[in-house]
Amino acid sequence: MLNLVIFGPPGSGKGTQSEKLIERYGLVHMSTGDILRAEMAAHTELGKKAQAYMEKGELVPDADVIEMVARKIDQTKDPQGFIFDGFPRTTAQARSLRNMLTERDTRIDLVISLEVPEEELVKRLLKRGQEAGRQDDEIGVIRNRIEVYKQMTTPVIDFYKKMRKYVPVEGVGTIDEIFERIVNRIEHYISFTL
Ligand code: ADP
Repeated sequence: MLNLVIFGPPGSGKGTQSEKLIERYGLVHMSTGDILRAEMAAHTELGKKAQAYMEKGELVPDADVIEMVARKIDQTKDPQGFIFDGFPRTTAQARSLRNMLTERDTRIDLVISLEVPEEELVKRLLKRGQEAGRQDDEIGVIRNRIEVYKQMTTPVIDFYKKMRKYVPVEGVGTIDEIFERIVNRIEHYISFTL
């Protein structure tokens, strides 16, 4: 199994690169943002609860997100591997993910972290707001999501650095250039360990 975390601030290109990685390595996409938006669209209890947080750019409570991910992992039959996108977003989520995977005899192999300057993030998210109409891609909410990322999510970097799984990748360039950088790092890892 190859299990990846794709990490980075809002607008860093996690979803875009995830799609390409899924195709290349046959991974299952575990995007907590997508799952939460689906819950909202289906008006489930979790969806209703999550909506209030997501509209403001706040994090949905750890316990809810962790339970949701554990359920999705167990629903997946014979996965070749997972790509976690938008999760973990707090150190509590990172610890839970480690325990969940250990219990299932597997682990995170690499954390691919997309590095993009803040002005570029805001530009991309405003453009996505106009084109894709995501409610939270509005300037006030964008600023808050970046703030929440800095406060709650950047500590996750140290968690994975200590475990020697953290791989920073420059996230500016064409989609294919960035993808090639990521694939190089994965292939290097595979050739030495798997
Ligand atoms: P982006 O990376 O552009 O912010 P996402 O789709 O990953 O987009 O997340 C959108 C929103 O969903 C977040 O602002 C947050 O409210 C909620 N969310 C997604 N993943 C998590 C998570 N792991 N923990 C808590 N909240 C989450």
